[in-house]
Amino acid sequence: MKRIGVLALQGAFIEHEKVFSALGCEVLELRQRKDAERDFDALILPGGESTVQGKLLRELGMYGILREKILGGIPVLATCAGLILLAEKIENDEKTHFATMPVTVRRNAYGRQLGSFYTEAEFKGIGRIPMTFIRAPFVSEVRDGAEILAEVDGRIVGVRYKNQTAVSFHPELNQDMRFHRLFLESLG
Ligand code: GLN
Repeated sequence: MKRIGVLALQGAFIEHEKVFSALGCEVLELRQRKDAERDFDALILPGGESTVQGKLLRELGMYGILREKILGGIPVLATCAGLILLAEKIENDEKTHFATMPVTVRRNAYGRQLGSFYTEAEFKGIGRIPMTFIRAPFVSEVRDGAEILAEVDGRIVGVRYKNQTAVSFHPELNQDMRFHRLFLESLG
């Protein structure tokens, strides 16, 4: 049985936990440093507010150990704010976080009017899937072989770099579990 570590500081982590539980995984909530030090097979970085998550990660002493795990190759699935935590550059924020993925993101990239919307689009390896965007970032540049997995209206909304997969949207908020299942299959 796979043990999935879900960063549970703030934001939409319970929704990811429900999907992984439904798919037969053991879920480990990462709330403090000693949770982050445990062994788990994959790391989930949920949506929420990247500035708040970044601050809490540091204050709770979880930042260094999780960054080491990411650089060490643990499979990572990041959604929305999680994508911002991974990005090496943030166009409209001076402060970066893990900065382990060679991409540039733009926070709150869809503006106020289009802050939240739903669409369906092609995702590499799956087909058309539902995509819910909530004050989402998009990826404005990929470098060093980061692979594009999905685009909506010419904007990059899904990327993979080595062990890290990140999306702008919230796959955990729809009934469709194909996205999480594909990630689980990739764990072997
Ligand atoms: N707007 C948030 C941020 O900048 C991301 C929104 C989300 O995770 N749904 O961190």
